[in-house]
Amino acid sequence: MRTVEHGKHAVRQRKVPAWLSSSLIVGAFGLLWLLERRRPLRRNVEPKLRHAGRNVALAGLAAASLQLLERPLIQLLTTLVEKRKLGLLKSLRLPTWLEVTLAVVLMDYSLYLWHVLIHRVPFLWRFHLPHHVDLDLDASTALRFHAGELVISIGWRVGQVALIGLSPLSLSVWQTFLMVSILFHHSNVRLPLEVERKLNRVFVTPRMHGIHHSTVKEETNSNWSSGLTIWDRLHGTLRLNVPQNEIQIGVPAYRDPQEVNLLDVLNMPFVEQRPTWLLPNDGRPQRLSSLVERNQLLP
Ligand SMILES: [Zn+2]
Repeated sequence: MRTVEHGKHAVRQRKVPAWLSSSLIVGAFGLLWLLERRRPLRRNVEPKLRHAGRNVALAGLAAASLQLLERPLIQLLTTLVEKRKLGLLKSLRLPTWLEVTLAVVLMDYSLYLWHVLIHRVPFLWRFHLPHHVDLDLDASTALRFHAGELVISIGWRVGQVALIGLSPLSLSVWQTFLMVSILFHHSNVRLPLEVERKLNRVFVTPRMHGIHHSTVKEETNSNWSSGLTIWDRLHGTLRLNVPQNEIQIGVPAYRDPQEVNLLDVLNMPFVEQRPTWLLPNDGRPQRLSSLVERNQLLP
């Protein structure tokens, strides 16, 4: 009995140490930044420093909103989940390694669903649009979210944590995995094609996510996964056969760098919305369908 109590207590206290997760995240960002300079995948539209500066400023506001609102609430909730054995995984009483693995997988899947929702529901799209109007895609875009999007997503997060039964340990593992993953797949790094094809069987990679940031509507409406690619495969929303040098990053309604400055981007959810997929001169970006099989990554 005592062992069980001790076991429970030990699990409750366990978490990925903050120094470890922050070194992994900062290390990944630094490494990707270097690789982006050495082996860029796409040509930048804006100067890299100006672009990164704006994205880091947006990220600062987003991080402040998370620190103030999401963090205390979700930590409290995961502690409660652990103590009262709430949610699916806690009710199954699995070995810790299996519980954490399943937690990461289920959080990843429910994030896929949330990503589809924030694209499909016009009110939510207003808040995700600032992420997509970026004219370049690199590791700094991974941090560029409107604080409003993150605040709205707290409701979804509460549901995820409570239903899945996320412990403080699972939360810390998932958060670290997610951060490293989104830095990686937003990055502008040209991996050797064969390496990326192999990695892409399991994980979202830069060429794949670049297609989600394309100005072609059908391409943005694909590749919603943010960790494992299995969700796009299962839902038939995977699209890999787009030649990378043909991808234009951003949304058609905002092509002018002057219109996506920091203030305009912050205001974006609160002003009248332009038709996202129409170019200012009225056309729609389109691509002739590729002859290559849909699930094949191209250079
Ligand atoms: Zn998106």
